[in-house]
Amino acid sequence: MKFDTVMIHFGELSTKGANRKLFIQQLLHNVRVAIKRYGLLTKADRDHIYVYLGEEDPTPILERLREVSGIQRLSLVAKTGKDIGEIGAAALSLIEKEAGSTFKIETKRADKKYELDSYGISRAVATHVLKNSSKPLSVDLHHPDILLKVNLREEACYLSCKEYPGLGGYPLGMNGKVTMLLSGGIDSPVAAYALLRRGIKVECLHFASPPYTSEAVIDKLTRILRQLNDYQSDIRLDIVPFTKLQEAIYQNVPEPYCITIMRRMMVRIAVGIAKKRHSLALATGESIGQVASQTLESIDVINEVTNFPILRPLCTEDKVTIIDTAKRIGTYDISIEPYEDCCTIFKPKAPKTKPHLDECQEYETRFDYASMVEEAVEGTTPIFVSEGEVVEPSKSK
Ligand code: ATP
Ligand code: MG
Repeated sequence: MKFDTVMIHFGELSTKGANRKLFIQQLLHNVRVAIKRYGLLTKADRDHIYVYLGEEDPTPILERLREVSGIQRLSLVAKTGKDIGEIGAAALSLIEKEAGSTFKIETKRADKKYELDSYGISRAVATHVLKNSSKPLSVDLHHPDILLKVNLREEACYLSCKEYPGLGGYPLGMNGKVTMLLSGGIDSPVAAYALLRRGIKVECLHFASPPYTSEAVIDKLTRILRQLNDYQSDIRLDIVPFTKLQEAIYQNVPEPYCITIMRRMMVRIAVGIAKKRHSLALATGESIGQVASQTLESIDVINEVTNFPILRPLCTEDKVTIIDTAKRIGTYDISIEPYEDCCTIFKPKAPKTKPHLDECQEYETRFDYASMVEEAVEGTTPIFVSEGEVVEPSKSK
């Protein structure tokens, strides 16, 4: 007897009764994609997904599954028949292989018609283990070395000693697609991760202003996206030519308003691209108060250019929390590499923290931005990052 199956416990499913079927189907698909290289058998029922390990080492498979959104918990289980003698024998065989001298049996009984209640099952199994064990074992209900969980279900009984937390959230693809404004900084990759965890697919776009910004940023962004491939295996990144518009802004707009107007232009372009790509919203890495353009007054003036939704997943997060997450998902070290962003190149000495809408509108009459916005929307270059590699457009999904 050995632990040869991964049992996947669903995330926020209980609160989404009507979407249950969709949730399970999407999660089963995502699980299969995540571990397809192992060629394992998988199965779903209304409460769990099972991955049958055969002779595979569970460690890398569990690690991979911990990156799949929509999974609350994973347990490594062994399946037995429901006869109490059979359960006792299986428990004994499993416990004897674990390190430790004290144990506890904890039973969950989904099969309400079973002849013993959960307490009765725990007692019977523990008695069998104590009587037949070849090594000295005792029961400790408070701090056992080995906690064996008995999950008695309609179709079979599952035993487990080890549980692992999953990513939580929703299965990717269940909650639509969003266009993520990706800079080379720390925040936007973390914002993208927050969306992915919530089951929202992302497509990214980056505003590049060559020759003021260097080509090297594209390499940096693709390395960031490779890290995010752990959560979404194919990611599209559109590089947006922004130089012309940015030069026009700096020729026509007073310095303190440059950043605000630049952001208004970014949003106009991003909305154009998002609509072409059938995205349902834009998303940014902004966090309230972090810098001048991220005050509520500023956000209000920036949002005024569109009624298309703009998500700001990090809006209330502290920088330290954002940095912790960036380190955990492996984007931090890449993000802190020095680079020139279009925002930093033309950074005004005293940006307006509380910009006025009427002033923005007046400055925007000074140049023909609409045609430049259209040109930018039409002039993007797509890059595809798939399973850790930059791939040709034809090979991406
Ligand atoms: P980040 O760490 O994500 O760069 P930040 O704290 O540096 O964020 P800003 O530079 O003000 O803040 O940018 C705010 C948001 O605007 C970014 O999180 C990103 O979503 C978007 N953004 C900024 N510059 C670019 C760019 N060149 N291309 C695409 N999006 C950008
Ligand atoms: Mg930045």
